[in-house]
Amino acid sequence: MKGGVRLYRAPRGTSDILPREQVYWRYIEQKVANVCQLYGYERIDTPVFEDTRLFARSIGEETDIVTKEMYTFEDRGGNQLTLRPEGTAPVCRAYLEHGLHNLPQPVKLYYIASIFRYERPQAGRYRQHHQFGYEAIGDGDPALDAEVIDMTWQLFASLNLHHLSLQLNSIGCKQCRPPYLAVLKDYYANYARDLCADCKTRLRRNPLRLLDCKQPLCQQIANSAPRSIDHLCQQCEAHFDRLKKYLGLLALPFTVNHRLVRGLDYYTRTVFEIQPEEEGAQSTLGGGGRYDDLIEELGGKPTPAAGFAAGLERIIHNLKKQNVPIPALPRPQVFIAYIGDEARDEAVKLASMLRRAGIAVIEAFGNKSLKAQLRQANTLGSRQAVIIGEEEIKTGTVILRDMTTSQQKPIPISQLERELR
Ligand code: AMP
Repeated sequence: MKGGVRLYRAPRGTSDILPREQVYWRYIEQKVANVCQLYGYERIDTPVFEDTRLFARSIGEETDIVTKEMYTFEDRGGNQLTLRPEGTAPVCRAYLEHGLHNLPQPVKLYYIASIFRYERPQAGRYRQHHQFGYEAIGDGDPALDAEVIDMTWQLFASLNLHHLSLQLNSIGCKQCRPPYLAVLKDYYANYARDLCADCKTRLRRNPLRLLDCKQPLCQQIANSAPRSIDHLCQQCEAHFDRLKKYLGLLALPFTVNHRLVRGLDYYTRTVFEIQPEEEGAQSTLGGGGRYDDLIEELGGKPTPAAGFAAGLERIIHNLKKQNVPIPALPRPQVFIAYIGDEARDEAVKLASMLRRAGIAVIEAFGNKSLKAQLRQANTLGSRQAVIIGEEEIKTGTVILRDMTTSQQKPIPISQLERELR
């Protein structure tokens, strides 16, 4: 701050994650790591930016993300780069680059990463947000789709989030989707004049996305539109039937939603989303599905795959809304106070000694009164204060104060570590 004027703010659509918020982030990361371990997924981290073509190619040239939302720039070497607008394509790129197809398939990977999209910022929609996601690459068995969906459902259960719905659809494959899109376009041709401006463009360029428009009139039209599941080829139909059977065996409560299509072009067959029951599609917590052609599209051999990704900010919003109890993060329980300069030297030594012994402590600094130091200990929530004064230095002791009861007792320094444990 200079002269009371705030010079800099976080860029629009981005946020600082302050210490008081970190507890939610650690909570989610921990649950994600636990569930991923249970299902055999290993962590991968990829660069924040990639070759622009990777995303244009995989997400789809006509999608909102690629046409309007990418943070693309040229670096000083003239390379066209884009800040990661989603997590799947980078993982597939890494799978190919590092020859992971030589490992037993499917290769199961998960990530937690920041995602960048130039969107109009609003509640639950930011320009930088964070996703965790997981990808199982190298198997086409519908049992794998079921496992990914089961894992997702277990993850949300382990987060203690309730009132969620599991929406499911199949959007077919290279063979059966083009004829379906033709039927869809025929249907929509009758309503072309009633569609919103975006849908008029979608009708020409990306007809599948007509189905998930949020405008009321477009929604009405979409409700009666031809359904992809009625136009699946035999293999896609059999795949979908098997998947539904497995989900039944796992007692997962899914709803088939023929308007569920997802915003990225690489999906084939299975698509699914997790939505809060009341709020509907605009507040989707996460989505995923199968993407059997993506690896080949990126230059690999035909390699079926499935995955899921969810937004951490939206999960945190729901954790707060549902008042889910979040365990506190560990913080130092011991505060070291001192009276006088000589005691300060002792405090510096003592703090270091305790930390080396693995006991977290907070040291008082400056020339504050003992009262002020203890007030600080209170505000920090310390359970115990170790007080050093001149008298204590002479006798090789400290005073141990229980911050809850305010009771104090002298203790020889040699016994302090044991006492604090
Ligand atoms: P998508 O990659 O669009 O399927 O998004 C996966 C999940 O990420 C969504 O369900 C949201 O939870 C979250 N998400 C997507 N875009 C944003 C955004 N702009 N701001 C916050 N969360 C987002």
